[in-house]
Amino acid sequence: MVVYASPGHPDSLVKFQSRYQHYIGGEWVAPVKGQYFENPTPITGKVFCEVARGTAEDIDAALDAAHAAAPAWGRTSPAERAVILNNIADRMEQNLEVLAVAETWDNGKAVRETLNADIPLAIDHFRYFAGAIRAQEGGLSQINEDMVAYHFHEPLGVVGQIIPWNFPILMATWKLAPALAAGNAVVLKPAEQTPASILVLAGLIGDLLPPGVLNIVNGFGAEAGAPLAKSPRIRKIAFTGETTTGRLIMQYASENIIPVTLELGGKSPNIFFEDVMAKDDAYFDKAKEGFTMFALNQGEVCTCPSRGLLQASIADDFLDAVVERTERITRGNPLDTNTMIGAQASNDQFEKIKSYLDIGRQEGAQVLTGGEPDDRGGEFSGGFYIKPTIFRGDNSMRIFQEEIFGPVVSVTTFTDFDDAIRIANDTLYGLGAGVWSRDGNTAYRAGRAIQAGRVWVNNYHAYPAHAAFGGYKSSGIGRENHLMMLDHYQQTKNLLVSY
Ligand code: NAD
Repeated sequence: MVVYASPGHPDSLVKFQSRYQHYIGGEWVAPVKGQYFENPTPITGKVFCEVARGTAEDIDAALDAAHAAAPAWGRTSPAERAVILNNIADRMEQNLEVLAVAETWDNGKAVRETLNADIPLAIDHFRYFAGAIRAQEGGLSQINEDMVAYHFHEPLGVVGQIIPWNFPILMATWKLAPALAAGNAVVLKPAEQTPASILVLAGLIGDLLPPGVLNIVNGFGAEAGAPLAKSPRIRKIAFTGETTTGRLIMQYASENIIPVTLELGGKSPNIFFEDVMAKDDAYFDKAKEGFTMFALNQGEVCTCPSRGLLQASIADDFLDAVVERTERITRGNPLDTNTMIGAQASNDQFEKIKSYLDIGRQEGAQVLTGGEPDDRGGEFSGGFYIKPTIFRGDNSMRIFQEEIFGPVVSVTTFTDFDDAIRIANDTLYGLGAGVWSRDGNTAYRAGRAIQAGRVWVNNYHAYPAHAAFGGYKSSGIGRENHLMMLDHYQQTKNLLVSY
């Protein structure tokens, strides 16, 4: 067990700057309008730094730097870019604990997660796309005796990326690694709730890239995000966030006829067929762990298994078992590696979740455990903590249909296979799902029948770099990760040559 010192303490591994500027053209650049906003840590609720409040003028400056850098960067060979991406991964690995503590302090999540999952996964994304870009081949095909077709992969040029606050470094990496591997220059806008850890990352890896290839402009959605997404100077906008914001991003992109990648919200079903309880064994333990994944990352995961679907014949016994397991989720100092659940990322999010706890009760749902904020005492009293909560109710309730984005699962029952699939698909969203059955046939058929881009079968919440991820229905457009991601950051040039 390790308890990391809080930033601000002399023993802390992380020395945050008290004031952060934008990262543009390889330098720290003051905001044109000279404004900054305060950034609190959700762990104590106290402000620990202030951050440049970007506007259209700052976005323009970042686009100038990106356009200056893009042509030369786009001409580098895949092998050269692969070396740089691997160097970034190495630098991150050397600073794993620094990044993990920075991410925990900025976002509130448990250091156990940032240390063992978020940052190692982010590192792996750089390594994966370093390999992927070298393996990618162009094509030459003979059309007839006198004609050949060459196909070249070309970068798009300058791309815009906008990310949310739930996995700041990982979400940045999901977007940066393929974009940079493909030879694009990037302007990235982090979420205003979690700007600091990405700036720590920029400070660590910035010198490994040519100036202007990576630019980070902080600020609020309407002030900095919208001018970026609306700019005629980007060739693509990649966005992760709420479905309502995604609609706006599509409208902006349509003005300039540029492609979008949209990774949006979810209300993912986690389905447990009756055979999960056939024996009290390792498989059943795994299924219980799979159920408690609703509390992973404080439930602030787009694929949070926020709807538990239990076959009616096992529902009562299964719920007894998972309530007991949920109550053993350790809650303490997020910088203690024993702690499993940290703080919600912002006060707004904390208030939103509390309002859904009220809504669930008003709708008549039964609270099986949790259902209230979690005062952790001492210096953590000002932090934003919620107890993992299990509701039992009906799929028509708002707590089953709306994204709460907290450690809250709403459980209902189904009678048979068809009923399970009907309830699972009775949602606007289609991002993730879980299926648990010892019977391969049932699991396979359910996996195919659920309308979601990612279905975990007998596991939940693995995110390997080489598995395609993205949404059906209102959960988004396009995919991230996997080799196919390179296509989203490249265009194909065809040369049809006659001899
Ligand atoms: P959000 O849409 O409010 O904000 C996301 C980002 O968009 C932020 O950087 C914000 O500043 C920016 N933004 C807001 N308004 C904008 C505008 N008009 N123009 C341009 N940019 C704008 O979302 P959030 O609350 O930060 O994130 C939570 C949401 O993200 C949830 O719905 C969650 O499901 C979703 N999410 C999806 C995935 C996925 O891969 N599908 C992953 C993580 C989070």
